[in-house]
Parts: sequence; structure tokens; C-alpha cells
Amino acid sequence: MLAKAVAGEAAVPFFTLSGSDFVEMFVGVGAARVRDLFKQAKEKAPCIVFIDEIDAIGRSRGKGQMPGSNDERENTLNSLLVEMDGFATDSGVIILAATNRPDVLDSALLRPGRFDRQIGIDKPDIVGRNQIFKVHLKPLKLSKDIDSKKLASQTPGFAGAEIANVCNEAALIAARKDKKAIEMIDFQDAIDRVIGGLEKKNKIISPDEKKIVAYHEAGHAVAGWFLEHADPLVKVSIVPRGLAALGYAQYLPKEQFLYQTEQLIDDMCMALGGRAAEEIIFGKISTGALSDLERVTQVAYNMVSIYGMNDKIGNVSFYSSKQQEYNFNKPYSEATAQIIDEEVKRIITEAYQRTVGLLKHRKNELEILAKELLEKEILYQTDLEKLIGKRPFKHETTYEAFVNKQNEQDRLDLEKELVKERDVPQVTDAPPVADEDPASMPTGSEPT
Ligand code: ZN
Repeated sequence: MLAKAVAGEAAVPFFTLSGSDFVEMFVGVGAARVRDLFKQAKEKAPCIVFIDEIDAIGRSRGKGQMPGSNDERENTLNSLLVEMDGFATDSGVIILAATNRPDVLDSALLRPGRFDRQIGIDKPDIVGRNQIFKVHLKPLKLSKDIDSKKLASQTPGFAGAEIANVCNEAALIAARKDKKAIEMIDFQDAIDRVIGGLEKKNKIISPDEKKIVAYHEAGHAVAGWFLEHADPLVKVSIVPRGLAALGYAQYLPKEQFLYQTEQLIDDMCMALGGRAAEEIIFGKISTGALSDLERVTQVAYNMVSIYGMNDKIGNVSFYSSKQQEYNFNKPYSEATAQIIDEEVKRIITEAYQRTVGLLKHRKNELEILAKELLEKEILYQTDLEKLIGKRPFKHETTYEAFVNKQNEQDRLDLEKELVKERDVPQVTDAPPVADEDPASMPTGSEPT
């Protein structure tokens, strides 16, 4: 998508192919195709060549491969490297490539003169999602209550394609209901569907099971509501769906890259809220907490062995950014492994006890929410405020922060616009940044 946009802007011929097009069973075919492509490109210069999924041929050589299977790919890669070097700087051919796995690429591909500029395209943040929504909302017939900012705030972690999918689904849902325009509720349903899969109207759940699910989800909601550092809840639903089998709770994570210990612990407590509620109310636990426990275990292990957040293990990280794909060796001793396991168990036990304590204290609220859930099946944040009062912590939600910032941004944009009208020529090219200088690396891209 990005490459097409570039070619459109530049108004030159555009060649696109996928990395796997070069991979063939027959020796030499891939290399010949590379030479062919570059010959054509040079004839049509100036032009842009775009290779999708470059990792199919650009995987680093001689690492983690079956013997004998890599000859052809290496040939192809070598001829690609040679061809890229063969350009004079004025030949007017620009090569773009895309991959989801920049970590496995051969380092020779990334040297200056080859693919020497890297643009990381992350999932969009709330500002980006707002812009993407605006693009996809344009061709749709909308009712007046649609606010792209609100939609952006309700779709944390969505990529561009998923946002397009939400808009599409919303239009379909509205059409099925014979509406003249798409309403906010249709978008809510569409978001539900993209997250949890198709609603299963005919799935039969016994009343007993439904009660357990209601208390489980209410447990998450109450725990999150009264934990200071947990993400605020957007909605909780006990409608059975394809992926989220029995029910789910959606939270609004802050757009942040650093987490502090308190946040991780509160997060774990919230995840344990479901099981804790089951134990308090029914005195029994169920298998419904599987994905919660999976997450809790993962966070606890990461805290101890990767982020150095444990006193006994200390500021040690067993994470290696250069790790190979198949690594069976643990970089620590048996004794350390035992301490890690013990500490993980201790952290989770403490978090669970804390959650049980909290929910016992808030049993009243738990009952209220669970009963309401059984009746209505879906509860939103505003319902929670009505039922159990406002959250006792003063925090700007991401949405509020975004709207406030947006107003500020609108003002700045307007000012810039006015300035632009006065002095016309604007230099858009930023000065080149020295890629090798580690000091200029944005800290946000560090694996944290
Ligand atoms: Zn749960």
C-alpha cells in the first residue's frame, strides 16, 4: 500500500512482485528472474521496483536451514545483491521492499547502497487510527452521531486492515437492518465481531454456566475498576462468540511503551479477577480462566527473567535480541531456573490473594454487576458508572487526552496553515539522519 502510494506520488512506472516469485525448485531460475527484472527496470528508468515479502529470499544465509535446501535461494539472493550494487547512483531506479520479519534478513542486504533506509510501520496509535477511520468512513453513509475519534479510541491495537474491516462490517450490519445510514451501534457490533468473531445465537449455554461466566467477567470488571494502575474497561460482554467462546471484557490500554512494576501487578490482578470471583461466589473454580492464567504466567515470567523486576534475580535479563530461531540452551543454571520458578509462583500467588481480598471487600459491587450482566449481556463503561459509581482514581482516559490534545493540534494546524499561505515555498525534505549514530536512535524502538 505504502509503495503504491509512493509510486503514485512520483508518477513513474512501478514494478511489483513478491519475494516468493523468485523461489523455484529449479536451480538458477530465481537468479535469472532477478536479472530479468533489473534489466527491465533499467530500460524503463526512472521507475520504482517493489519486492513484497523480501524475507522469502533475503533470509540470512547459512543459519537454521536444512542442508541442501538453501542453494537456490542463496543464488537468488546473491544475484539480487550483485544487481543492486550494479546501479550507478544516477540510473534512476529506486527499490523498495517490505517484510514482516526484518530480524531474519541477511545483513548484506541492509548495507549502504542496498536497502539502507528502513521505515518501521507499526500499528497505528489513536491519532493514526482516527485518520484511517476518516479515510474509510468517507464513502459510507453515516448518521450524524458517528465520531471517528470515538471509534479510534475503542479500537486499540487495530491495524489499518482491521479498521477497514470494521467499516465494511458496520455497513453490512446496517444494510441488513434496512437502515438509511450507519449508526454508532452498528459500529459497536462491527468492532465486537472483528474482536470476538461471529455471534453464536444458537449456541446453547445452560443457565448455570451462564451464571459462572457472568460472575467471572464481573470479577474482571470490578477488579479493574478498583485497581489504580489497571486499564479502564470499555465494555464487558457475555454473548457467546466464535473466538471469545463465552464472554470477554475489552479494555482501553493507554498508548504507552513503558510499564512500571505496579502496572504489571495490577494488570495481573485484573486478569485473575475472573477466577477469584468464581471462587468467592461459588467456592469452586472452572476452566474458563485458561487464557487469563496464560497471560498472568507470561507476565510474571517476563518480569522475573526479562525485565529484571525481581529482587532475588536482580537486574538480570535473559533476553537476547540476537536470539536464533531454534535455541534449546537456557542461558542460566539449574539453580537459577529454580529460583525463577519459585519467584514466578510467589508473584502470582500474592497477586491472586490480593485480588481475592479486593473482591471480597467489593462483593456487593460484584453481585450488582453480575446480575445486570445476566440481564443485559453487554455493559459499557457508562453503565458501570451508573451501577457502582465512578472510578475512585483521577485519570484522564486516552479518549479524553486525545480529544483535548486534538483541539490543541487543530489550533496549531490552523496557525501553520496561515503561515504557509504567507511564505509559499516549503522544503519538505528533512535533512538526512546519520543512521549509524546510536545516539540518534529513537528510544521508543528499543525492545522493552
Ligand atoms: Zn477471564
